[in-house]
Amino acid sequence: MSAEATLINLLDLDQEGLRDFFASIGEKPYRAEQVLRWVYHHQVLDFEGMTDLGKALRQKLEHIAEIRPPRIVSERISKDGTVKWLMGLPGGNAVETVFIPEPGRGTLCVSSQVGCALNCTFCSTGAQGFARNLTTSEIIGQVWLAAHALGHERNGERRITNVVMMGMGEPLLNFEQVIPALRLMRADLGFGLAARRVTVSTAGLVPRIRDLKEAEDVALAVSLHAPGDELRTEIVPLNRKYPIAELMDACRDYLGGQKKRSITFEYTLLDGVNDSDQHARELVKLLRRLPSKLNLIPFNPFPGTSYRCSPPKRIEAFQNIVREGGLIATVRKTRGDDIDAACGQLAGDFRDRTRRREMLRLERQDN
Ligand code: SAH
Repeated sequence: MSAEATLINLLDLDQEGLRDFFASIGEKPYRAEQVLRWVYHHQVLDFEGMTDLGKALRQKLEHIAEIRPPRIVSERISKDGTVKWLMGLPGGNAVETVFIPEPGRGTLCVSSQVGCALNCTFCSTGAQGFARNLTTSEIIGQVWLAAHALGHERNGERRITNVVMMGMGEPLLNFEQVIPALRLMRADLGFGLAARRVTVSTAGLVPRIRDLKEAEDVALAVSLHAPGDELRTEIVPLNRKYPIAELMDACRDYLGGQKKRSITFEYTLLDGVNDSDQHARELVKLLRRLPSKLNLIPFNPFPGTSYRCSPPKRIEAFQNIVREGGLIATVRKTRGDDIDAACGQLAGDFRDRTRRREMLRLERQDN
């Protein structure tokens, strides 16, 4: 075995994990805070540059640890300023990370898995199959690399103000590795983002929504896409296991009566499938008593799909009905579609596409 294989990657550890690590090698736990500051505030990854650690400790760390994010394989910039990176992982896989600049904010869309096991019928990532979970270092490493790449305008237009776990994968199916990454996004010594600026998006993994509430304070987005079970099961197969009524209960519990909070429901509009007046009215009935925002997403086509985007007039009519019904509803602007960086277009690059069944089986055993 090469020496490298045994190095512990410190990007896999959140603050508590780092403190435990330093204690386990006979060092003071506060070294964790020093290292965090170097990595996330000063963007220094080599121990040599961490001047307040002392020479002996730096040398010790060189032998047992490393700080290694994924590697940027390519960067593409859209006409609208959206940036998409392909992040290379060990073993030849790659995932995508997207930065979306808007006036006064910059949103980073982060991947949680190589591919996805859920097979939602209108999503290109789902159509690719599933290879594996990302590690914590590969998740927080995307944020680190993006911040670094955008770094020269740190306080300008290209600053990351929000992170959404809406890239490739189902974050709640990779719970153990996503949680430390979320903690690092939130931590003062990490990226220091407020709870409402870090969003976990899920296709509706009910038990894990409950676990998330206990684990870390973040905003929740739920990919709904249909107001009734029959249609939702057809386009989001996970609905068979966790139908809408159970999902709504979990959402209500997630908010737990906190007045200032709400849940975002994502609803991709598919022409002739889920975009009728009737669907809009049913959606109003479903959501009107829950503090929520509805985010209508025009469908983004990808090679091989038979779905079409709803016509602009239909989208407008749908939005009018839900608004008149009392919902807060916005239409998501399509960004970066000239570089295939829009919602549902992220495909990454990976080899083993056969493990979807295995993943779902593991999850079943889990619960
Ligand atoms: N698995 C999580 C995270 C992915 S988020 C989830 O399902 O929420 C990606 C968002 O984009 C989801 O709301 C997803 O339903 C939506 N989406 C997927 N494919 C799309 C497409 N082709 N066009 C528009 N939106 C899409």
